[in-house]
Amino acid sequence: MVERSRNSSMFFVCVVGICVTLVSRINGQTVNVPWTQEKLHHKASTLSSDDITRVLSRSDLERMWEKDLRPMLVTRYPSSAGSQAVQQHIRSTLGALTAGWDLEEDRFQSHTPYGPMTFTNIIATLNPSAKRRLVLACHYDSKYYPPQWHGREFLGATDSAVPCAMLLELARVLDQELLTHKGSVPDLTLQLLFFDGEEALFQWSSSDSLYGSRHLAQKMENTAHPPGATDTNQLHGIDLFVLLDLIGAPTPRFGSQFPNTARWLSKLQSIERRLHKMGQLEEHLNEVQYFWPGLQVGPVEDDHKPFLNRGVRVLHLIPSPFPSVWHTFDDNEHNLDRPTIQNLNKIVQVFVLEYLRM
Ligand SMILES: [Zn+2]
Repeated sequence: MVERSRNSSMFFVCVVGICVTLVSRINGQTVNVPWTQEKLHHKASTLSSDDITRVLSRSDLERMWEKDLRPMLVTRYPSSAGSQAVQQHIRSTLGALTAGWDLEEDRFQSHTPYGPMTFTNIIATLNPSAKRRLVLACHYDSKYYPPQWHGREFLGATDSAVPCAMLLELARVLDQELLTHKGSVPDLTLQLLFFDGEEALFQWSSSDSLYGSRHLAQKMENTAHPPGATDTNQLHGIDLFVLLDLIGAPTPRFGSQFPNTARWLSKLQSIERRLHKMGQLEEHLNEVQYFWPGLQVGPVEDDHKPFLNRGVRVLHLIPSPFPSVWHTFDDNEHNLDRPTIQNLNKIVQVFVLEYLRM
């Protein structure tokens, strides 16, 4: 479950790790920048139309639908048989790619309104030795509905089977580029996070929600990064935490929640414009329909929160308003909008290529 917060208090912790000092050029001047600050000055590339056309020719919605999405459209609340199957599906899909993803599980028990339960996050890292990571995240669990709704299953198509399928398809489409990147850019990589237990099991509260992301944010904060470091941890390694949620319904609009990452929402808007002009987007009538960096939207409780509260820079790709099918039994395959999903696939795929300067 994702619910709107009435509490708008947020804070940013300034993280300043004085570790390895590198020399960067900013505005033409040479200055010393600790590696933990390089993200603040990171410049993405801009691909040529030919390169975009070449890469996006491999983007295949039907393949994503059959290979990634359908296997996820099962009841998959924490510890359920469906959850086990989806975990296995994520691991085997990424494990079969040539890029060579490092796959890790974060399994833990947590107290819930139904007693102690086991949760499993999946962490896929392209190059674990890279200090800096662009993170793409989604939650794979579905909301638990007790059995009184005989015969009706909550499948959470937008919440969040589609976002997770988008990440798997992205890894497949960019497989060759990611393999090349891994061998040529040692300090910046891609990490995919698949959270368990985002949804409340009984009723949304600070203790009954975000089980997986709360656990992983704490664990990453307690894990030295690079290994052996004394004053930096894995959270310092996150350049940008991009969370995808509630995606798959028609006409989504993504506004800005965080001024410190608005420039990356602008980057997505510019990619949307470019792909529109290239004729790459289907049923996309105006140059810009999805990404609105100038549109301020209120805070939403979601898996980014435990990271945001620890100073991580967040780009939250969740539509405002939420899809009309949100947390209803109509959040199913039938109500998904294929052109929107494929358009967003393409935009996010180009975003990753350009962020990683591939
Ligand atoms: Zn939900």
